[in-house]
Amino acid sequence: MRQSQFFTKTSKQIPEGETSKNAQFLIRGGFINKSSAGVYTILPLGLRVLNKINNIIREEMNAIGGEELLMPSLIHKKYWEQAGRWDVDVIYKTGIKEANDYGLGWTHEEVIAEIASHLINSYKELPRAVYQIQTKFRAEPRAQAGILRGREFLMKDLYSFHADKEDLDRYYGVVTKAYKKIFERLGLKTLVCETGGGAFTKEYTHEFQVVNAAGEDTIYYCPKCDFCQNQEVYKPVMHKNCEGEIASVKAIEVGNIFKLGTKFSDAFNLQYLDKDGKKNKVIMGSYGIGPTRVMGTIVEEYNDEKGIIWPQSVAPFRVHLIEIQGKDSDKVSKTAAKIYQDLQKAGVEVLYDDRNVSAGEKFNDADLLGIPWRAVISEKTKGKIELKARAEKKVKLIDAKQLLKEIKD
Ligand code: ATP
Ligand code: MG
Repeated sequence: MRQSQFFTKTSKQIPEGETSKNAQFLIRGGFINKSSAGVYTILPLGLRVLNKINNIIREEMNAIGGEELLMPSLIHKKYWEQAGRWDVDVIYKTGIKEANDYGLGWTHEEVIAEIASHLINSYKELPRAVYQIQTKFRAEPRAQAGILRGREFLMKDLYSFHADKEDLDRYYGVVTKAYKKIFERLGLKTLVCETGGGAFTKEYTHEFQVVNAAGEDTIYYCPKCDFCQNQEVYKPVMHKNCEGEIASVKAIEVGNIFKLGTKFSDAFNLQYLDKDGKKNKVIMGSYGIGPTRVMGTIVEEYNDEKGIIWPQSVAPFRVHLIEIQGKDSDKVSKTAAKIYQDLQKAGVEVLYDDRNVSAGEKFNDADLLGIPWRAVISEKTKGKIELKARAEKKVKLIDAKQLLKEIKD
């Protein structure tokens, strides 16, 4: 992609009212645009990142037997009423006369349980797991942490169906492992924390928490064992398995998994016939990750005073190729254009800064956008390339032939 053709522009100005780093850098870099509090457009650059996050999640969901589908956002109140969730605080009701009976989807247990009640009849049809990556709507009272807390945001929600509690427990473990892997691939170190079930279940549930000062949650964890509890449920007496000293820190919840039991199976009459022809209730689980919140969390974790430092796995491009035009700008442009073509041919995602602006402006933008590698061509480099990793200070002068090898991992 040629930077001169971008729909978006970078900006030096800190957007008004945005105190969080993720909002400041993502807006200034042209990754997102604020529409209103908690509502953002994902601009082309941001969508490149979000798609990478989604695809990592997708790969790991498919690997544990999840089938992808897409449920509606506009959901009739009969669904919500059936499980007693039409009057929760977070639901947006349309308020339009003809559409008064609809709420915007803030989670989809009801919709999927109703569908499953028609499809699952026998023990032979269990277990099953389906997921979607879809926009959710929640009337969040405090939406001020950029894309960490949106009123409209993206969620991956997986739902699983089981013959008994043991099978749910087994799959809960499978999903826990898959989540760990997803967050590792996304560059996020997570703690698995116990918490309450909110409007979902009375059981304890588990959150995947990233320790970061930008987080709204307070968690208590032990650095020596796997003890971790959200402030909501923390009881000091419960920690007696080791000598580690419990620390309290701020953290961002990037994922949440729930054992739903039969709450929704009861409401939607979701039953199956076992081997002996006896009717049993289906046991459900539900498992969420917020890809937009994940994107914001990655920015909170990976940045410096100049901008974002994307991990390779989610970076919008791998290389930022920058030409610095001087007296003999024709020659520099030709060399750069050739390298641009070669990189594209080799399947490397490259952003080519071919704009007619100063070197300083180009370097500042490169730091703000945070692409892992910066490759500079100027008269000074005499056909060679000045290569620098965004995360490092060191600059290396290399031959064009070496470029591919240098940026491989
Ligand atoms: P929180 O406690 O932060 O409000 P939650 O417990 O309500 O989150 P879930 O209902 O379990 O969250 O949703 C699953 C995932 O969706 C969360 O782990 C988070 O990553 C994401 N998520 C939830 N609410 C929001 C939001 N308002 N904006 C962005 N992402 C969100
Ligand atoms: Mg919430």
